[in-house]
Amino acid sequence: SEFAALDAQIEAEGAAEQANLAQPVLAVVGRPNVGKSTLVNRILGRREAVVQDVPGVTRDRVAYDAYWGGRRFTLVDTGGWEPDATGLQASVAAQAEIAMQTADAVLLVLDATVGATTTEEAVARVLRRSKKPVLLAANKVDDDRLLADTASLWRLGLGEPHPVSALHGRSSGDLLDAIIAALPTAPRELGSVSAGPRRVALVGKPNVGKSSLLNKLSGEERSVVDSVAGTTVDPVDSLVELDGDTWRFVDTAGLRKRVNSANGAEYYASLRTKTAIDAAEVAIVMLDAAEPLSEQDLRVLTMVVEAGRSLVLAFNKWDLVDEDRRHAMVRELDRGLVRVPWAEKVNISALTGRSVRKLAPALRTALKSWDQRVPTGQLNGWLSDLIAATPPPVRSGKQPKVLFATQAGIRPPTLVLFTTGFLEAGYRRFIERKFRERFGFEGSPVRVNVRVRE
Ligand code: GDP
Ligand code: GDP
Repeated sequence: SEFAALDAQIEAEGAAEQANLAQPVLAVVGRPNVGKSTLVNRILGRREAVVQDVPGVTRDRVAYDAYWGGRRFTLVDTGGWEPDATGLQASVAAQAEIAMQTADAVLLVLDATVGATTTEEAVARVLRRSKKPVLLAANKVDDDRLLADTASLWRLGLGEPHPVSALHGRSSGDLLDAIIAALPTAPRELGSVSAGPRRVALVGKPNVGKSSLLNKLSGEERSVVDSVAGTTVDPVDSLVELDGDTWRFVDTAGLRKRVNSANGAEYYASLRTKTAIDAAEVAIVMLDAAEPLSEQDLRVLTMVVEAGRSLVLAFNKWDLVDEDRRHAMVRELDRGLVRVPWAEKVNISALTGRSVRKLAPALRTALKSWDQRVPTGQLNGWLSDLIAATPPPVRSGKQPKVLFATQAGIRPPTLVLFTTGFLEAGYRRFIERKFRERFGFEGSPVRVNVRVRE
């Protein structure tokens, strides 16, 4: 479908460039029949017939991915929000209110053949208070005859009226240019992510076997860098070839030349761990399979999750694990790893080389999840079913509503839920768990953020 085609286009054009851009949100408001759905479809580049007059369709899919002029944004058709209908004017004003609170910019659509009614005047009063940019589209300007009339819409105090014909496409490009100009340029989180070998942090408490593994990997497989061999300066990173790919193990200098426990060694070890995690895209957290999980292990795991990096758990020294230890581990890990049930576990021995070749596939899976984005339409289709089946718990007598959701970012995948009320942590975790059941994301943290309308 064209929906899929658009998402494919976004994926293709955006993959590297837009990787870390949060997607700004544009909400479209207006009275029924002014042509909002037609305009939304025009912007999305679809036939208007797709949405029109199909009951439930706009309700289920209120948010869409739009793309124009190299920018992508989330387009929200507020027709689907259906604020409590206590009179048209009040309900459109309420729509505008929600739009102002949740979106980054608002587009008010009116019917130029009718002009500004008392409803538009009321809505304009609401929107003039907005700190967010507001655009005004005068729709159904199918030919020049109505152009003169649209000038009178300046009096709404919302700036320049944009005459368009959603039906025929007239001037919709100009409107889109204005929309793009009005939307905030999203902040860039990780400016430095670039092509080249994927970056891996090999971390874990002292003596867990990090140097042994690195030596094993660089010894058995071919170590690409030691191109600086012969110099006294260690390269900060090691390039290691694993399973047909080259990987950059970041910040490994300290691993090769072991600085033995001087004063503050633990502090420096922890600092090194933090630096390596920040510089990496995926972390291999090494755990000692022969020993119970320690506080130190959990601190390292927390660092990875908080930094939003993807993760592989390597249980090292598997050669020392016997039957008894295996049994003990099962319970221990259920408790110890509650924060990262989504991480893949690989049982290895850096000493014997057991299963170390399973690391590369696990790294690939984790990175794939880290890079994955669920298209907005698909996300909302799934979410509206989930919420219909299990609505958020009532808090102080109120039932929070989830208006729509979008996956605003990747690396790590980040969902933003637009709601009418606070969602408790338990319910957010529920959503995350169901999201993973449906869409996967093995090996990557997933963030669930909530934007609440006051
Ligand atoms: P919504 O209720 O605001 O979403 O309005 P719709 O998109 O469902 O449109 C309402 C009616 O107006 C439909 O019959 C459309 O075909 C018609 N319409 C929408 N845009 C235009 C336009 O630019 N020109 C004309 N002449 N009719 C339009
Ligand atoms: P690091 O401090 O994390 O870099 O740990 P090292 O690689 O220096 O290893 C610490 C000790 O554990 C060394 O004596 C290693 O020989 C030993 N070791 C590392 N990996 C294994 C393993 O898989 N099995 C066993 N039995 N010993 C290991």
